[in-house]
Amino acid sequence: MSVEKTLSIIKPDAVRKNVVGQILSKFEANGLKVAAMKMKRLSKAEAEGFYAEHKERGFFGDLVQFMISGPVVVLVLAGQDAILKNRALMGATDPKKAEPGTIRADFAESIDENAVHGSDSATSAAREIAFFFDAAEIVN
Ligand code: ATP
Ligand code: MG
Repeated sequence: MSVEKTLSIIKPDAVRKNVVGQILSKFEANGLKVAAMKMKRLSKAEAEGFYAEHKERGFFGDLVQFMISGPVVVLVLAGQDAILKNRALMGATDPKKAEPGTIRADFAESIDENAVHGSDSATSAAREIAFFFDAAEIVN
């Protein structure tokens, strides 16, 4: 067990549905603290850079178009085992396979529009946090 930081994105579909607060409440109720937060529109270059690991996949173009389709909320979450805890709270990538009570089960419609992003490892978390935030913007 260790205190970690992870990057979360509340994706455009969830912002459009007006469930930003409900998603933040889920994090807070489960021991994750907001350590940094901003709402922004991703540029195409930002979305492509952020999801660069998927650039050879067939869904990459649609994923980028979706991520720039409206504003997102970008967050650093901090807490015990924050990386795995956030992934558990999110639920499976495909909301049809997500456990009841997870964010994707409650708020997502499809694998293409699945409400939230979460870093999947310590290496990804470090890269993704630095992608969006300067050290001085993150509360300890
Ligand atoms: P994220 O990285 O957004 O947190 P994830 O880690 O659960 O999601 P990844 O495998 O990293 O899933 O895929 C990144 C995103 O690409 C997914 O959130 C999803 O929107 C999209 N995606 C992944 N697999 C597919 C697929 N088979 N068909 C369509 N879209 C997909
Ligand atoms: Mg991923």
